[in-house]
Amino acid sequence: IKKVMPIPKAHYGGRHTVTLLPGAGIGPELMGYVKEIFSYAGVPVDFEDIDIDPNADNNDDLEYAITSIRRNGVALKGNIETRSREVGVLSRNVALRNELDLYVNVLHCVSYPGVNSRQKNIDIVIVRQNTEGEYAMLEHESVSGVVESMKVITRSNSERLARYAFEYAKRNGRKKVTTVHKANIMKLSDGLFLETSQRVAKEYPEIVHDNMIIDNTCMQLVSNPHQFDVVLTTNLYGAIVSNVVCGLLGGAGLLSGKNFGDQYTVFEPGTRNTGAKIAGKNIANPIAMLNAAVDMLRHLGHKHHATIIQNAINKTINSGIHTADLGGNANSREVVDSIMKHIKIAVN
Ligand code: ADP
Ligand code: MG
Repeated sequence: IKKVMPIPKAHYGGRHTVTLLPGAGIGPELMGYVKEIFSYAGVPVDFEDIDIDPNADNNDDLEYAITSIRRNGVALKGNIETRSREVGVLSRNVALRNELDLYVNVLHCVSYPGVNSRQKNIDIVIVRQNTEGEYAMLEHESVSGVVESMKVITRSNSERLARYAFEYAKRNGRKKVTTVHKANIMKLSDGLFLETSQRVAKEYPEIVHDNMIIDNTCMQLVSNPHQFDVVLTTNLYGAIVSNVVCGLLGGAGLLSGKNFGDQYTVFEPGTRNTGAKIAGKNIANPIAMLNAAVDMLRHLGHKHHATIIQNAINKTINSGIHTADLGGNANSREVVDSIMKHIKIAVN
């Protein structure tokens, strides 16, 4: 695998510039909270805001967003709306990940002690293929009433993803990687994914490698999640497994996810929801987007600000100031105000 030099991140006079894609639904209000908290904490980051018009019949906005991320190296993102189900209209979220070759999605799922969740003390890392598999968007109706959808698995993408998972495990003191697949049925495609991970695993003898069928994985996750450490999987299985684990921990409003390629990084809420029904009501949980913003600060090397904001988030959650999705009665504003209060205490 050829190693690509990462492009330098946009950095002027000690400040970073990052691309901000608010997206649709609750995205814009959540980005408003991020900006408010960043400016309150004096974070040296400037945003380049780009709105993508969901109804545009061209991809000019999307192309502009991609150019901006290429320039800045880093983005914070809400979920972008896809206009319709017409054939030929590609998901802009998928197109963006493909164009930037963001081949891995990482979701670190850790329980908050202060959240009343279905399972406690979970610590699972999901490493998901992010650019191919079941999301190839190659579908056609070959004859009326018969639709074919292509699932694309390549050795090169499977290999660099597996390597990412094992390197992650090694760097972070993880003990086990579990490849999740359906190679008993999809013998060629998932077979290649599984075989490749088994080959890469041989280079990491200190890390245990096993594998599990996707359906059994879902059952095991809800009944005995503590057996999992790092989960390595394809695009669609990764989406399902991510949602199962987020559901066990407290839902869509809590965890953040990271999209990596060799050159660019995009941060977003872990389960990538639009939240159209709860938009504009001051009820969305702001935590997932704020966690994504903290991940971004760490990535940029702004450790001090990342720690202050992270601690303020944890104190707020663990003191029981929760939005309705976590069973609480605080609104979005009250959660954000509590975080700002803890930031103020920390910096004084
Ligand atoms: P999608 O965008 O994939 O259609 P939805 O927007 O329907 O997903 O989100 C799935 C569920 O998660 C919905 O019930 C939504 O209200 C809830 N949800 C998503 N994000 C949040 C959030 N930040 N706070 C509270 N609930 C959320
Ligand atoms: Mg959905």
